[in-house]
Amino acid sequence: MASWKNWSEETRHDGIKVYEPTTEQQLIDAVNDARDNHLKVRVVGSGHAWSNIGLRKDGEDAGNASPPAADPGAVSPGYRGGAVILTHGLKRILAVDRDAARKTVKIEAGAVLAEASEKLYDEYRLTFPTMGDTDRQTVAGAISTDTHGSGAKLRSLADYVTGIEMVLADGTCRALDDRELKAARVSLGMLGAIYSVTFQVTNTIYLNHHRTLVRVPDDFDNLDAHFHNNRHVEYWYFPYTDHADLMLRETTHPTNPGIYLIETEQLRAEGRFLDFLGRVRPSALPWAFKNGTKGRRDEHRVGPAHTILPLVSQSTVDDVKTHTMEYLFPYEKLREAFEQLQLSITAARDDGIYVGIPVHIRFIKQSRNSLLSPYVWPLTASFSVNFSTKHEGFEQWFRDVERRMLDPSIGGRPHLGKIHFKKPDIPAEFEEIRKELDPGEMFWSPEDIYREIP
Ligand SMILES: Cc1cc2nc3c(=O)[nH]c(=O)nc-3n(C[C@H](O)[C@H](O)[C@H](O)COP(=O)(O)OP(=O)(O)OC[C@H]3O[C@@H](n4cnc5c(N)ncnc54)[C@H](O)[C@@H]3O)c2cc1C
Repeated sequence: MASWKNWSEETRHDGIKVYEPTTEQQLIDAVNDARDNHLKVRVVGSGHAWSNIGLRKDGEDAGNASPPAADPGAVSPGYRGGAVILTHGLKRILAVDRDAARKTVKIEAGAVLAEASEKLYDEYRLTFPTMGDTDRQTVAGAISTDTHGSGAKLRSLADYVTGIEMVLADGTCRALDDRELKAARVSLGMLGAIYSVTFQVTNTIYLNHHRTLVRVPDDFDNLDAHFHNNRHVEYWYFPYTDHADLMLRETTHPTNPGIYLIETEQLRAEGRFLDFLGRVRPSALPWAFKNGTKGRRDEHRVGPAHTILPLVSQSTVDDVKTHTMEYLFPYEKLREAFEQLQLSITAARDDGIYVGIPVHIRFIKQSRNSLLSPYVWPLTASFSVNFSTKHEGFEQWFRDVERRMLDPSIGGRPHLGKIHFKKPDIPAEFEEIRKELDPGEMFWSPEDIYREIP
């Protein structure tokens, strides 16, 4: 029996059986063994999803989010105890089709995006069409929660998936058909254990990255032009100010010389400083954000896409572990939503809760291929709100942001891999396919993921 915890250390499963397959056959063996021993299974990648990917209750602490090991039978009748299948040993690139009009690569589920990106660049001069702000997720983990980057022309990573091979509860490993694929691209581990994922990819592109300080919401007036001129567009909004870093990235020629002005180390130092301040004197955070935007210089660099995205190194990300929630809403509602966000930051401050991390504002093109995808509008905008795990008061603030984003005037939906307190709607078609693929509910069901913690 062993333990597993996720990246933010909010979710911890103790007293579970852990499988670490390195081949397709070992993944099949793990599923068969778990089924024969009546173990409820959660398949995991890098553990970068937050919480249980589900509801939290006031006062919940890390240990309470465990699967049934702590409370046999509480999750699903018929299964006792719990098992986690760790997929990091499944990391090979299985096939590359470079000649097809639509280039594709087939990769084992547990390959980490960063390593897969590097291999695709080094050996094949290919790249993933989009990337989030970290690349430490596994390919199956990233698609399972509909991980996205930012740009009006870019869909989520799962939307570029053309094939999935999955080990089902009965121990068979097979390629899913088109109908099943629509459920499996974004499935939160509820259908079975993904063995491989085939992605549509592109030839390597070079990106020209430019970061500059702008006023918000004023700069929202320029978004149509930003979208027209750039492949990637995003903001980092500095709370308590009317400023944001605008990040623009457009494809460019490899010989275009890049000017490298600001070290990533600077971002790291800023993050550490704000984290420290939030612990010792949170009421000074508004002052720090206001001063931090003074004299900020532009940043400009050029490189192959996988060296530009993500911009922030993993060590920077690991320095300040966060609780993170992301709400998605129609792009047309951006201004109203931003006003609500600012009101929420002010209301929290009035209650003595201070936000110590900028808010990420992003844009995602409509998802066409996944039943569970929340990117349902022609263009989605989103706010990611972050709160250091070392600071006090995140839940009150997140609940207030969620309440405002769910208001019918905004009509928001939660990012499925991040904290949310409202259970999203699970379409009947998804449930139908889930019952066909996993009739005995051996893998986590919506009830397991979205159960309320007493
Ligand atoms: C620092 C940080 C930055 C992030 N940035 C972004 C971002 O820019 N954009 C964005 O959209 N999200 C972002 N996320 C969220 C992250 O992309 C998702 O939570 C993603 O699902 C994590 O992938 P993982 O490999 O860690 O999967 P895990 O967290 O281990 O698992 C996530 C889900 O996938 C399922 N799963 C994993 N592997 C398999 C498999 N082989 N078979 C079946 N199911 C499986 C799990 O059961 C679970 O439901 C970020 C997270 C962190 C911590």
